[in-house]
Amino acid sequence: MFAVELNHPVSHLPGIGERRTRELARLGITSVYDLLMHVPRAYEDRQLPVPFAQATPERPVNTVATVVAHSYIGGGSSQTLKVHLRDESGLGVLVCFGRNFLSRKLPEGKKIRVFGYFQRRYGDLQASAFDFESADAPSVRFGRILAIYPLGGKLGQNDLRRAVDAAVARYGRGVDPDIPAWLLKQRKLLPTDQMLTALHTPPDIAAADHARRSLVYAELFFLQLSVALRSVRRKEAVRPAQKLPRTEQATLIASLPFPLTADQSTVLSEIVHDLEQDIPMARLLQGDVGSGKTVVALLSALPVIEAGHQVVLMAPTELLAKQHADTAAHLLQSAGSDVAVGFLSGSISTSMRKPLLEAIATGSVDLVIGTHAVFAETVRFRNLRYAIVDEQHRFGVLQRLALVQKARQPDLLLMTATPIPRTLALTVFGDMNVSTIRMMPAGRKIVETHLARQANERKVHDFVGRELAAGRQAYFVYPVIDASGKLDLRDAEGMWARLKNEVYPEYEVGLVHSRLKEDEKSATMERFRSGDLQILVATSVVEVGVDVPNATCMVVEHAERFGLSALHQLRGRVGRGKHQSYCFLVYDDGLTDIAKERLKTIHTHVDGFQIAEEDLRIRGPGDIAGTEQSGYLRFRAADLVRDMEVMNEARADAFDILESDPTLDAPDNRSLRAALTAAHNQRRLTPLAQRDTYLPSEGPRTE
Ligand code: ADP
Ligand code: MG
Repeated sequence: MFAVELNHPVSHLPGIGERRTRELARLGITSVYDLLMHVPRAYEDRQLPVPFAQATPERPVNTVATVVAHSYIGGGSSQTLKVHLRDESGLGVLVCFGRNFLSRKLPEGKKIRVFGYFQRRYGDLQASAFDFESADAPSVRFGRILAIYPLGGKLGQNDLRRAVDAAVARYGRGVDPDIPAWLLKQRKLLPTDQMLTALHTPPDIAAADHARRSLVYAELFFLQLSVALRSVRRKEAVRPAQKLPRTEQATLIASLPFPLTADQSTVLSEIVHDLEQDIPMARLLQGDVGSGKTVVALLSALPVIEAGHQVVLMAPTELLAKQHADTAAHLLQSAGSDVAVGFLSGSISTSMRKPLLEAIATGSVDLVIGTHAVFAETVRFRNLRYAIVDEQHRFGVLQRLALVQKARQPDLLLMTATPIPRTLALTVFGDMNVSTIRMMPAGRKIVETHLARQANERKVHDFVGRELAAGRQAYFVYPVIDASGKLDLRDAEGMWARLKNEVYPEYEVGLVHSRLKEDEKSATMERFRSGDLQILVATSVVEVGVDVPNATCMVVEHAERFGLSALHQLRGRVGRGKHQSYCFLVYDDGLTDIAKERLKTIHTHVDGFQIAEEDLRIRGPGDIAGTEQSGYLRFRAADLVRDMEVMNEARADAFDILESDPTLDAPDNRSLRAALTAAHNQRRLTPLAQRDTYLPSEGPRTE
């Protein structure tokens, strides 16, 4: 079976017409492959008979019964059919909400197989969710283990079962194994075809477990293989080790308005040390909001630039990229440096863009700072050597790869304020070194955090008013731009008008949100930064990275609607200067328990690492902070917490294989190579590889 056939649309399968195709698409299932990999969320054991007399709320009935009567609950058009059944042990009732038509399918005297969770209610043993089939025909869904699928849209379990069965029957058996037979044997795992059959139609629960374990292993193995490959490729891309000049760096450090913290100095030398090695760098720099990562990034770029190479610094939003470019230009200028900085974003006009691209291509720009626009095909570097990605969790993995391809194996620094949980550190970042800034710059005061009910907003407004009168600035953040229709929700546009006209008529109030044009946003930000505006009303666009040290108040309204890490990031926008700062989390009555816990957490904790751990605890281990949302990894079966042991096995195997056979040329490993190539070429997987994490090795070299 060629992997490409698995890309066939589901409509190629018998029994899947236009309507089902549409409904499946809502579940994210468009190809045969998606269907094969639609992992059951549970199984129903319908092997052993359980007569009515033995039913409990946990123990579903699985019996053969005869219809003995019909009756109806309620009257008129809202009548509900009750079908009375009798098996050898006693009586049971099917309550057919909205399905009165079942009276025709289940006439008196009919014998059926029935499965369902029955409970005693109003003197009857009743079930309203049940499955049945005629006892006269051969059994299809009874006497076996039945898969239960995640549902959505208008499809029921049986629709999905039929579709999956069709896919397995037609395509499942021919799927080539990806993982070499010797490895399957060693780890006692099922090859793909057997795995698929056992996953969807297991003969017993043990077989289903075996299938799941095999699938989990395969997912994690390919993930680890791509991580291992990345590290091999990096090691292959050796260049001469080189001592980098540090004159520019020393000058800039000397001219900074503050001394570096000890942590900043340490991580800076870790980074520069890596940059001097023969193997390209892959390093993750983590440090809480406000810990001063930007200046470290800038300082680390200087030796590379001084040695004659180009550096790119990328930020996830235009606001942030612009701010970085301004900061860099300002610091470099006051240090008397002649490093040339270029700013590139999607909103740079064509007339300015052309000369800029030209300058990047000829090398007259040393440091390019920008948004994802730097990934564009048209951007050619003369000799890009070092790429820095700020707030890296905001970027898709593929975008990051596109950049890596602009230079074959550039030195790579990923920066993040969101601490990476250990499990993730072993996965996507499994080939990276980690630097951590733990301390805050000296003299920082801890931001005072207050929770306030919306009914008490006057107090908050008065407090902020006093700060404004003292020359400070304030942010007001709202969850939505415009809540027209939802009366009980405050929005940025409405509150901007209110704050400006009614609450603070004596101050200048600006508004930024994602629907405004980039140049408008930048202009407003600039006015806020320069102190021209005292108040900035915003949506979560200010969440990431914005740096205005004179702002001392952060008011977040409807704080219950923000996640923990967003709240932490928002609070991190203040407390950046020498003045005491304040964060007001204004909430509505009627909080859910989780919202309450989140607000309590942010109120009591200041440390981002602790907050991330709490976040993990509140969400539960199945949902690792920052994984799903940021699209690092989307596993079909694996769970990074539950399957840690399998992860370690897969990791050991992947690294071992590549160590002894770095090019995967050994006959035993050919299937791996084929799987990875297919994954890359199709931009999706072969049966099991994880597409996002495969790093192609041959990018065009621009030098
Ligand atoms: P983050 O790590 O969140 O990206 P920034 O790089 O934006 O933090 O830095 C936050 C603020 O702290 C900036 O205004 C920056 O100039 C300032 N800063 C950075 N390092 C120091 C330091 N060592 N001492 C004092 N202030 C510093
Ligand atoms: Mg930052």
